[in-house]
Amino acid sequence: MKYYAKPIAKLIGRLTKLPGIGPKSAQRLAFYIMNDSDEEAEELIEAIRDVKDKIGYCDICNNLTEHERCNICSNEERNQSVICIVESPKDIVAMEKTGEYNGLYHVLHGSISPMEGVGPDDIEIKDLLSRVKEGEVEEVILATDPNVEGEATAMYIARLLNPLGITASRIAHGLPVGGDLEYADEVTLSKALEGRKQV
Ligand code: ZN
Repeated sequence: MKYYAKPIAKLIGRLTKLPGIGPKSAQRLAFYIMNDSDEEAEELIEAIRDVKDKIGYCDICNNLTEHERCNICSNEERNQSVICIVESPKDIVAMEKTGEYNGLYHVLHGSISPMEGVGPDDIEIKDLLSRVKEGEVEEVILATDPNVEGEATAMYIARLLNPLGITASRIAHGLPVGGDLEYADEVTLSKALEGRKQV
Protein backbone atom coordinates (compact mmCIF):
# COMPACT_ATOMS: atom_id res chain seq x y z
CA MET A 1 0.00 0.00 0.00
CA LYS A 2 2.88 2.35 0.69
CA TYR A 3 3.52 2.48 -3.05
CA TYR A 4 0.20 4.19 -3.67
CA ALA A 5 -0.92 7.78 -3.25
CA LYS A 6 -3.06 8.05 -0.12
CA PRO A 7 -6.52 8.23 -1.78
CA ILE A 8 -5.77 5.13 -3.86
CA ALA A 9 -4.48 3.24 -0.82
CA LYS A 10 -7.63 4.23 1.04
CA LEU A 11 -9.92 2.96 -1.74
CA ILE A 12 -7.98 -0.32 -2.02
CA GLY A 13 -8.08 -0.71 1.76
CA ARG A 14 -11.83 -0.17 1.84
CA LEU A 15 -12.50 -2.56 -1.05
CA THR A 16 -10.40 -5.25 0.64
CA LYS A 17 -12.96 -5.26 3.48
CA LEU A 18 -15.70 -6.47 1.10
CA PRO A 19 -16.49 -10.19 1.31
CA GLY A 20 -14.66 -12.27 -1.29
CA ILE A 21 -12.32 -9.43 -2.28
CA GLY A 22 -8.63 -10.01 -1.67
CA PRO A 23 -5.86 -7.39 -2.04
CA LYS A 24 -5.33 -8.20 -5.74
CA SER A 25 -8.99 -7.91 -6.68
CA ALA A 26 -9.24 -4.71 -4.61
CA GLN A 27 -6.34 -3.25 -6.54
CA ARG A 28 -7.93 -4.24 -9.86
CA LEU A 29 -11.27 -2.69 -8.85
CA ALA A 30 -9.62 0.49 -7.62
CA PHE A 31 -7.79 0.94 -10.92
CA TYR A 32 -10.97 0.22 -12.82
CA ILE A 33 -12.84 2.88 -10.86
CA MET A 34 -10.01 5.40 -11.36
CA ASN A 35 -10.01 4.88 -15.11
CA ASP A 36 -13.79 4.93 -15.32
CA SER A 37 -15.58 8.05 -16.58
CA ASP A 38 -16.74 10.57 -13.98
CA GLU A 39 -20.37 9.70 -14.73
CA GLU A 40 -19.83 5.97 -14.21
CA ALA A 41 -18.02 6.57 -10.95
CA GLU A 42 -20.78 8.93 -9.83
CA GLU A 43 -23.40 6.25 -10.59
CA LEU A 44 -21.54 3.80 -8.37
CA ILE A 45 -21.40 6.33 -5.54
CA GLU A 46 -25.10 7.07 -6.00
CA ALA A 47 -26.06 3.37 -6.05
CA ILE A 48 -24.26 2.81 -2.75
CA ARG A 49 -25.81 5.92 -1.22
CA ASP A 50 -29.29 4.88 -2.40
CA VAL A 51 -29.22 1.46 -0.76
CA LYS A 52 -28.01 3.05 2.46
CA ASP A 53 -30.60 5.86 2.40
CA LYS A 54 -33.65 4.29 0.81
CA ILE A 55 -33.73 0.66 1.85
CA GLY A 56 -35.35 -0.34 5.11
CA TYR A 57 -37.37 -3.24 6.48
CA CYS A 58 -40.96 -4.05 5.55
CA ASP A 59 -43.39 -3.17 8.37
CA ILE A 60 -45.02 -6.56 8.08
CA CYS A 61 -42.45 -9.21 7.15
CA ASN A 62 -39.03 -7.52 7.70
CA ASN A 63 -38.02 -8.04 4.07
CA LEU A 64 -35.90 -5.32 2.49
CA THR A 65 -37.93 -2.61 0.81
CA GLU A 66 -37.90 1.03 -0.21
CA HIS A 67 -41.53 1.42 0.89
CA GLU A 68 -43.38 0.77 4.15
CA ARG A 69 -44.49 -2.60 2.81
CA CYS A 70 -42.47 -4.84 0.52
CA ASN A 71 -43.76 -5.81 -2.92
CA ILE A 72 -44.73 -9.27 -1.65
CA CYS A 73 -46.80 -8.06 1.32
CA SER A 74 -48.53 -5.48 -0.85
CA ASN A 75 -49.42 -8.02 -3.55
CA GLU A 76 -53.03 -9.02 -2.89
CA GLU A 77 -52.81 -11.90 -5.30
CA ARG A 78 -50.48 -13.80 -3.01
CA ASN A 79 -51.90 -16.45 -0.70
CA GLN A 80 -52.43 -14.65 2.60
CA SER A 81 -52.98 -17.86 4.57
CA VAL A 82 -49.39 -19.20 4.34
CA ILE A 83 -46.27 -17.66 5.84
CA CYS A 84 -42.83 -18.99 4.99
CA ILE A 85 -40.25 -18.23 7.68
CA VAL A 86 -36.69 -17.54 6.54
CA GLU A 87 -33.55 -16.29 8.24
CA SER A 88 -32.55 -13.62 5.74
CA PRO A 89 -33.98 -11.54 2.88
CA LYS A 90 -31.57 -13.41 0.56
CA ASP A 91 -33.56 -16.58 1.29
CA ILE A 92 -36.70 -14.89 -0.06
CA VAL A 93 -34.91 -14.39 -3.36
CA ALA A 94 -33.96 -18.08 -3.40
CA MET A 95 -37.55 -19.13 -2.66
CA GLU A 96 -39.01 -16.75 -5.24
CA LYS A 97 -36.70 -18.16 -7.92
CA THR A 98 -38.30 -21.60 -7.50
CA GLY A 99 -41.57 -20.08 -8.76
CA GLU A 100 -43.34 -22.67 -6.57
CA TYR A 101 -44.38 -20.48 -3.69
CA ASN A 102 -47.13 -17.89 -3.71
CA GLY A 103 -47.63 -17.17 -0.01
CA LEU A 104 -46.14 -14.53 2.28
CA TYR A 105 -42.86 -14.47 4.19
CA HIS A 106 -41.46 -13.57 7.56
CA VAL A 107 -37.76 -12.73 7.91
CA LEU A 108 -36.22 -13.53 11.30
CA HIS A 109 -32.92 -11.75 10.62
CA GLY A 110 -30.93 -14.52 12.25
CA SER A 111 -31.36 -17.81 14.04
CA ILE A 112 -31.28 -18.94 17.64
CA SER A 113 -27.70 -19.75 18.58
CA PRO A 114 -26.90 -20.21 22.28
CA MET A 115 -23.22 -20.61 21.36
CA GLU A 116 -23.17 -17.10 19.96
CA GLY A 117 -25.47 -15.71 22.62
CA VAL A 118 -28.42 -15.24 20.25
CA GLY A 119 -31.71 -16.04 21.98
CA PRO A 120 -35.32 -16.01 20.75
CA ASP A 121 -35.71 -12.35 21.77
CA ASP A 122 -32.78 -11.32 19.57
CA ILE A 123 -34.51 -12.32 16.33
CA GLU A 124 -37.87 -11.24 14.89
CA ILE A 125 -40.13 -13.86 16.45
CA LYS A 126 -42.48 -11.67 18.48
CA ASP A 127 -44.02 -9.86 15.52
CA LEU A 128 -44.43 -13.22 13.78
CA LEU A 129 -46.68 -14.33 16.63
CA SER A 130 -48.77 -11.19 16.44
CA ARG A 131 -49.12 -11.67 12.68
CA VAL A 132 -50.28 -15.22 13.20
CA LYS A 133 -52.69 -14.32 15.99
CA GLU A 134 -54.21 -11.51 13.95
CA GLY A 135 -55.99 -13.68 11.54
CA GLU A 136 -55.90 -15.34 8.22
CA VAL A 137 -52.82 -17.53 8.63
CA GLU A 138 -53.42 -21.28 8.43
CA GLU A 139 -49.99 -22.67 7.71
CA VAL A 140 -46.45 -21.67 8.58
CA ILE A 141 -43.57 -23.15 6.59
CA LEU A 142 -40.30 -23.21 8.50
CA ALA A 143 -37.59 -22.59 5.91
CA THR A 144 -34.73 -21.75 8.23
CA ASP A 145 -31.29 -23.00 7.18
CA PRO A 146 -30.67 -26.77 7.34
CA ASN A 147 -28.02 -26.48 10.07
CA VAL A 148 -28.06 -26.82 13.87
CA GLU A 149 -29.16 -23.22 14.53
CA GLY A 150 -31.81 -23.34 11.79
CA GLU A 151 -33.24 -26.59 13.15
CA ALA A 152 -33.32 -25.28 16.71
CA THR A 153 -35.05 -22.11 15.54
CA ALA A 154 -37.62 -24.07 13.52
CA MET A 155 -38.41 -26.34 16.47
CA TYR A 156 -38.71 -23.38 18.84
CA ILE A 157 -41.18 -21.61 16.56
CA ALA A 158 -43.15 -24.81 15.90
CA ARG A 159 -43.63 -25.23 19.66
CA LEU A 160 -45.00 -21.69 19.90
CA LEU A 161 -47.36 -22.17 16.97
CA ASN A 162 -48.82 -25.59 17.72
CA PRO A 163 -51.00 -24.41 20.66
CA LEU A 164 -52.45 -21.73 18.35
CA GLY A 165 -53.83 -24.40 16.02
CA ILE A 166 -51.50 -23.42 13.18
CA THR A 167 -50.01 -26.14 11.00
CA ALA A 168 -46.24 -25.77 11.03
CA SER A 169 -44.21 -27.66 8.46
CA ARG A 170 -40.49 -27.93 7.97
CA ILE A 171 -38.75 -28.08 4.61
CA ALA A 172 -36.02 -30.69 4.72
CA HIS A 173 -36.10 -33.14 1.87
CA GLY A 174 -32.99 -33.01 -0.29
CA LEU A 175 -31.41 -29.96 1.29
CA PRO A 176 -27.77 -30.49 2.21
CA VAL A 177 -27.47 -30.55 5.99
CA GLY A 178 -25.18 -27.86 7.36
CA GLY A 179 -25.78 -25.65 4.35
CA ASP A 180 -27.27 -22.25 3.66
CA LEU A 181 -30.72 -21.97 2.13
CA GLU A 182 -29.65 -19.19 -0.21
CA TYR A 183 -27.14 -21.48 -1.93
CA ALA A 184 -29.60 -24.30 -2.64
CA ASP A 185 -30.43 -24.67 -6.32
CA GLU A 186 -33.98 -24.02 -7.47
CA VAL A 187 -34.90 -27.65 -8.13
CA THR A 188 -33.66 -28.83 -4.72
CA LEU A 189 -35.42 -25.99 -2.99
CA SER A 190 -38.73 -26.52 -4.76
CA LYS A 191 -38.54 -30.27 -3.96
CA ALA A 192 -37.83 -29.37 -0.34
CA LEU A 193 -40.86 -27.13 -0.30
CA GLU A 194 -43.04 -29.81 -1.86
CA GLY A 195 -41.83 -32.45 0.61
CA ARG A 196 -42.29 -30.37 3.75
CA LYS A 197 -43.30 -32.30 6.86
CA GLN A 198 -45.59 -31.23 9.63
CA VAL A 199 -43.75 -30.54 12.88
ZN1 ZN B 1 -43.19 -7.57 3.51
